[in-house]
Amino acid sequence: MQSKQPCPICQRQKNSPAIFESEDWLVRHSSETNIVGYVLIEAKRHFLDMAEATPAECASYGEILQRVTKGIRRLVPAERVYTFTLGEVVPHFHVHVIPRTSQMPRGYRGRGILTYPLEPKADSALIEIFSDGMAKALSKH
Ligand SMILES: [Zn+2]
Repeated sequence: MQSKQPCPICQRQKNSPAIFESEDWLVRHSSETNIVGYVLIEAKRHFLDMAEATPAECASYGEILQRVTKGIRRLVPAERVYTFTLGEVVPHFHVHVIPRTSQMPRGYRGRGILTYPLEPKADSALIEIFSDGMAKALSKH
């Protein structure tokens, strides 16, 4: 990405509401999947990876990751909850948090999740129901 291009995550944070916001993090449902419960945790501040995080961001990262994972487990019958961060497409720290249910085809399990198709998108009504549940789960802390 050219440094002169605006960061799409910074842009999105200005323009589109998230499920939940803490001092350092935003939580939103992914728009590039049909996996209901596929959540992104985005740093509110623009930085590449945890090497550039402040001590406060490091401390709150574990907490938000646990709260999101617990929320997913409450709302989706996940056998596993995958978490990973790559930063290749958008160099703004964000974490993919993906429930893997028993329904997911075997080829997409484990590292296969990286080949999961971005389209079609999930039913927006299901995402809304999930997002409402996640917002409630996250606000109860
Ligand atoms: Zn950014």
